[in-house]
Amino acid sequence: MSLRGKVALVTGSTSGIGLGIAQALAEAGADIVFNGFGDPAEIEALRRETESRYGIRAIAVPADVSKPEDCAAMVARAQEELGSLDILVNNAGIQFTADIEDFPIEKWNQIIAINLSGAFYGMHAALPGMKAKGWGRVVNIASAHGLVGSAQKSAYVAAKHGIIGLTKVAGLENANAGVTVNAVCPGWVLTPLVEKQIADRARANGTTEEQESHALLAEKQPMLRFSTPAHIAAAVLYLCSDGAATVTGTQISVDGGWVAR
Ligand code: NAD
Repeated sequence: MSLRGKVALVTGSTSGIGLGIAQALAEAGADIVFNGFGDPAEIEALRRETESRYGIRAIAVPADVSKPEDCAAMVARAQEELGSLDILVNNAGIQFTADIEDFPIEKWNQIIAINLSGAFYGMHAALPGMKAKGWGRVVNIASAHGLVGSAQKSAYVAAKHGIIGLTKVAGLENANAGVTVNAVCPGWVLTPLVEKQIADRARANGTTEEQESHALLAEKQPMLRFSTPAHIAAAVLYLCSDGAATVTGTQISVDGGWVAR
């Protein structure tokens, strides 16, 4: 599959799943807009490395997806510096664990702002250009937690269920515009986000991280193995391909059997 000539923005592409998706899209020939919330020098280094490894153009835009003006500016930079924005992957996300009564209000607001509103702001800025061109692909990275619940993850589960609803609405609104909007629902993928959860659990339970990794998988994921960012990227590539031209408003689970359970 070739995405040469397409421009893709992947939010949260400095780490984990987003980085895997950006690299897979670059390997398929797309020009890439890197985004993340970390050290600008780190984002710039990834940009340079990806450009030279895959022979594509890339720009680095450190920005906060929870701010609508940052999302609009990211899309504008893609259009000005790379000529258009054809593929938007709303991937940036964070997690926090606590019972509802102990959940800090500011954490709730932050998770909803990044994990849910960030995807809305991205689409708000990107859809007009895609519709004008008559071609576009939006992929929202949801979660198995967007389809089933989990105790102590109120904001995360609410945001991920929300993004699946938003995906349906955006798919419908763009059904005849040449623009598809879909979600991918990963189960456990071993990234810094999950490594922190494993470390927190090991500390709280007085166990080892290896024991907690096994426990996480045994609780949720019947395949008893973690997915990799490349597994999630493969689903994103499919959704960006011509083969998926009539797939919209829906989601693909890449979850080792989690939701089937
Ligand atoms: P990660 O922590 O490795 O990476 C998160 C990325 O988001 C980083 O690049 C970070 O800089 C960026 N980010 C955080 N806040 C941001 C903000 N305000 N603005 C812009 N960028 C911001 O996490 P990951 O595990 O790769 O998760 C990526 C996505 O996949 C998230 O939406 C997460 O909910 C989802 N997901 C992950 C798993 C998993 O098991 N790892 C499972 C299901 C869904």
